Amino acid sequence: MIDLRSDTVTRPTPAMLQAMANAPTGDDVFGEDPTVNELERRMAALFGHEAALFCSSGTQTNQIAINVHTRPGDEVLCDEGAHVYRYEGGGTMANSGCSVRFLPAERGRFTARDVEAAINDPGNPHLARTRLVVIENTANRGGGAVWDIAEAGRVRAVCDAHGLALHLDGARIFNAMAVDRTAPSHWGTTFHSVSICLSKGLGAPVGSVLTGNAALIAQARRVRKRWGGGMRQAGILAAAGLHALDHHVDRLHEDHERAKRLERILFDLPWVEHVLPVETNIVVVALKDSGGVPRVLAALKEREVLAVAFGPGMLRLVTHLDTDDEAIDRVAGILRTLHP
Ligand SMILES: *Cc1c(COP(=O)(O)O)cnc(C)c1O
Repeated sequence: MIDLRSDTVTRPTPAMLQAMANAPTGDDVFGEDPTVNELERRMAALFGHEAALFCSSGTQTNQIAINVHTRPGDEVLCDEGAHVYRYEGGGTMANSGCSVRFLPAERGRFTARDVEAAINDPGNPHLARTRLVVIENTANRGGGAVWDIAEAGRVRAVCDAHGLALHLDGARIFNAMAVDRTAPSHWGTTFHSVSICLSKGLGAPVGSVLTGNAALIAQARRVRKRWGGGMRQAGILAAAGLHALDHHVDRLHEDHERAKRLERILFDLPWVEHVLPVETNIVVVALKDSGGVPRVLAALKEREVLAVAFGPGMLRLVTHLDTDDEAIDRVAGILRTLHP
């Protein structure tokens, strides 16, 4: 099977497993796991933040961040396709009692002006208190679109002017940085908190990290514990993250080149309506026959290629650590002979 459903499907490499097996461990709830501490230190330093917290998933880091930044009754601003709204089980509302207001966006990217226009008058008791803005980079539903760091900076200026917090859902921030060559510290200094997934393009089996200032991360640690997210000898997992930082960051451009190849092939197929411009490792395809998604997925599966449905008439393919050039050659051949 060539599994292009997501970049989460990667298996740990032999070298990563070795690093996990060799990791020194301790009880992380006591703060005594040296490998977790090392990962948290390293991520905080990379992103120019004071502290970091290792969590089980990107949903957990995002949800903890939202909880720390807000009070019940507050409002969160984001794109309607944002993971924090669409794919976290209603967590923003259920865990933190916040309403969500959508910003008009182009492939997941909005502007500082859009943010400013959506802020409620804090003096009007009828209205929810606008409290938090969430940016997703890369934007998954935008087809892996990369945010402009300068626009994010302008969003931060609006947030500062209105006393709002700014959170980065950077599940795939390393993919974004591989494209625009921005430094992690650019993103860290632009945002109050950053969530980074180790289990997507970086290829670790489990884990995400939240970074922020010391007070924010101290409160985040309390919320993680309250929600049952305290882990004990988690160093075996953190070791996979450290290994990923050392060995799987510089190769991300390969995933992007392979996604570009898929884009070029798909673009020419008679049954494809359009492909969202490929910027990173995500390829979103709209079919001419909007009811044809199950048929295309089944035909691909018959030929041992997996993709996922991605909204009406759309499907998504994602390249990753376990898809080499040979796999893309095979997929290319299959796509060209498909007559769904
Ligand atoms: C995958 C992802 C997350 C986190 O998902 P988990 O499966 O909970 O780790 C968060 N945001 C975005 C944009 C994602 O793609």
